[in-house]
Amino acid sequence: MSDCIFCKIVDGSIPSNKVLENDKFVAFHDLNPVKKVHVLIIPKNHVDNIATLNADNESYVAGMLSFVKDVAKELGIGEDGYRLIFNTGEKAGQTVFHMHAHLLGGEEMGWPEA
Ligand code: IMP
Repeated sequence: MSDCIFCKIVDGSIPSNKVLENDKFVAFHDLNPVKKVHVLIIPKNHVDNIATLNADNESYVAGMLSFVKDVAKELGIGEDGYRLIFNTGEKAGQTVFHMHAHLLGGEEMGWPEA
């Protein structure tokens, strides 16, 4: 999508601080981290969010959790514990409508969060 900032990160027209990339996914540091480690993981092909997955686009995100595991390992928090969040829809706080997982970690996190 031409006006999607995460598509622009994928095509390199917006710079990002990348952690890991493969043929289907990219992981990069969030511009405004809310935890010591805050990385975004996105499929390269555009999908708005989990709610818009269907038979035509679900292949774009197949293997995403396995990639998350590799990213956590790359960040050195693979054994440490981390949290994965998919804000899905405006009501849940989604502001960028290109599906992404927030990978949070590097510090102690309570649940539920205060
Ligand atoms: P959402 O609120 O779940 O949609 O999360 C969007 C996230 O994207 C926020 O945490 C933003 O800080 C982050 N973000 C927006 N633009 C950029 C960027 O250009 N690079 C890295 N992170 C970004």
